[in-house]
Amino acid sequence: MLNVVIFGAPGSGKGTQSELIINKYGLFHISTGDVLRAEMKNGTELGKTAEGYISKGQLVPDELIIDMLAKVLDSNEETKKGVIFDGFPRTIPQAKALKKMLADRVTEVSAVVGLEVEEPELIDRLLKRGQVSGRSDDNLETIKSRLEVYHNQTTPLKDYYIEEKKYNAIHGMGSVEEIFARIEKTIDNL
Ligand code: ADP
Repeated sequence: MLNVVIFGAPGSGKGTQSELIINKYGLFHISTGDVLRAEMKNGTELGKTAEGYISKGQLVPDELIIDMLAKVLDSNEETKKGVIFDGFPRTIPQAKALKKMLADRVTEVSAVVGLEVEEPELIDRLLKRGQVSGRSDDNLETIKSRLEVYHNQTTPLKDYYIEEKKYNAIHGMGSVEEIFARIEKTIDNL
């Protein structure tokens, strides 16, 4: 069973590459950002709480996210065929919780695909996306907080997964197809 974590800064192409990975490898997609946006749209308690953090570019607290993820895993039989985790984990406690959740389900993270993109390119992509996404967090001020949060809270995960011997660096600049070809090579070699 293939469980892939797609890892990278906001704007690094996680969502785009996840779609291509799903098409080729038939994995179940869990994007914590998408789940949170659906909660906000439906006006749930979780959605209302999350909105305050997301609009400021901050992370939603770990316990809420971990709980939400466990529910998604438990309520979808299809997760048993393998999952692509997109936007999760974003902190060390989330990574440790994921390890435990998967171990309880007698599986593990097969590989982490780390999309590495330079910062000016990230800002450029997010501003362009902001013109069409309608996402309240794709504006310059919030983008800057998201990138800072990424550097402070999420980049330590790279070392965590290097130590676990699961991290695969992918050069994330170039065309969508070129980047996907690099990912395919990594996954096919697992
Ligand atoms: P991006 O990768 O472009 O920031 P996402 O859709 O993955 O977009 O996430 C949008 C926002 O949702 C994040 O800035 C954060 O506030 C919240 N979020 C998503 N995933 C998590 C997570 N695993 N832990 C905490 N907050 C999260």
